[in-house]
Amino acid sequence: MRIDLVTIFPEYFAALDISLLGKARRTGLLDVHVHDLRDWTHDRHRTVDDTPYGGGPGMVMKPEPWGEALDAIVPPHRSDPPRLIIPTPSGRPFTQALAASYAAEPWLVVACGRYEGIDYRVVEDARTRMPVDEVSLGDFVLAGGEVAALVMIEAIGRLLPGVLGNAASVTDDSFAPGAMETFLEGPVYTKPPVWRERPVPDILLSGHHGAIARWRRDEALRRTARYRPDLLGRLAPEDLDERDRTV
Ligand code: SAM
Repeated sequence: MRIDLVTIFPEYFAALDISLLGKARRTGLLDVHVHDLRDWTHDRHRTVDDTPYGGGPGMVMKPEPWGEALDAIVPPHRSDPPRLIIPTPSGRPFTQALAASYAAEPWLVVACGRYEGIDYRVVEDARTRMPVDEVSLGDFVLAGGEVAALVMIEAIGRLLPGVLGNAASVTDDSFAPGAMETFLEGPVYTKPPVWRERPVPDILLSGHHGAIARWRRDEALRRTARYRPDLLGRLAPEDLDERDRTV
């Protein structure tokens, strides 16, 4: 997969050289290109922002450098354009399902906004020649799109075939499509069997795979009911068995 990032802070993306994603880049599974938006400015101060039309606080990112940057990265009239992702708190929610659908795409471009965001004509213009998604990480406001881009790339990158050592770990995760889609994963443990007088739950040492799977489901249900009752509300009645109803 190829990912192009456009930002005024390219140094944020040094984190993509670390750990799983760093290895994915070195082995060619992930081809990341980081572009400095200021390379498409033409004034002495390399200006990328201006005051908002209509008044109000803050600054807005100017359309000209963004238009030139996107034209250079995605030449007009390409028959197979990438998907442009614009992180913004006013976008559609980023979810595991969206990460999985992006992981199936060959090419993504991420436009990292700053200040009060990017002049909206950039979004409208880009939409005439490529699919564009405005995506939110959640109901909070970051200072810029770089950290949002890193979060999305990590979630997408670990789903690419060959990136994780054990592909099964993806299917057991919270929100994983299938059995876990509407569940949070329950607690996990490792050695030693007793730590600070706290033993690991006996069932996990029993070797009884069926009972362990049941225990894990019970714990996932409890945790989901506690922290995300909205997810349980999405379950169809037939998704719950008799035992679930007693947990
Ligand atoms: N004025 C904008 C609003 O209220 O919707 C907030 C702009 S924010 C200070 C600057 C940039 O940070 C945004 O353009 C976006 O790139 C990024 N950003 C902030 N919060 C985000 C979120 N929850 N999800 C994704 N991107 C976010």
